Amino acid sequence: MVHATVPENQRPLMRHMVLAGDILIAVTRKRIRHLHLRVHPPDGRVTISAPLSVRLHAVEAFAATRLEWIRRQQDRMRARTHAAPRRLEQGETHYLWGHPHELVVVEREGRQGVTLDDDRITLLTRPGSDVGRRAALMQAWHKSILHGVLPALIRDWETRLSVRLAAYHLRRMKTRWGTCNHRTGHIRLNTELVTQPANMLEYVLVHEMVHLIVPNHGPRFIALMNEHYPTWREARAQLRESRFTAV
Ligand SMILES: [Zn+2]
Repeated sequence: MVHATVPENQRPLMRHMVLAGDILIAVTRKRIRHLHLRVHPPDGRVTISAPLSVRLHAVEAFAATRLEWIRRQQDRMRARTHAAPRRLEQGETHYLWGHPHELVVVEREGRQGVTLDDDRITLLTRPGSDVGRRAALMQAWHKSILHGVLPALIRDWETRLSVRLAAYHLRRMKTRWGTCNHRTGHIRLNTELVTQPANMLEYVLVHEMVHLIVPNHGPRFIALMNEHYPTWREARAQLRESRFTAV
């Protein structure tokens, strides 16, 4: 491990760099009681705040013990960054059921739409189409995939929960994965769920369907989730970690 100390004239800042594995970490010494290690989005930059009393080699030793955790955080952040489609242009990474696919854009006259083969999502669009047009094609494709799996999933959960869903709607939403209108028995699901691992769709569906029984998130709601979907806490944490994409 290597560390580079800062020039004398910057000493009041008490800033140092340490190296853990191949990861360069900026260390700031402060009047605090504990070491704080942070991995910053979106690029996975790593910093440590350290108490004044902790020697630099101890900070290095601490960082070394967290190396695996740091790498995991960085991988996750990079995956999220890549998951955000920007312009729907050739070469972007788009996710389907949690798996990355390379986007191929084919501009041509004739049939428009989206096709999938092993590791590629191909967007067939008219020459000169703008991002709005491309997003609409992608959105229609996402809807068709969800309509393909939801009816059977809903029937299954109607039986398990002894409820009847009046209707479901699909919509791209910026801030919510799903909503439920307890009064009308309608639920709305975010089309972005198609980009998440498949169990996320099921978790959100079950959550909204349990709202058909209990409109709030009170003890009865929790009890029903515990009974019917015991891993809901993990699913919720997983979903919170993923970022909404915006085109
Ligand atoms: Zn809810």
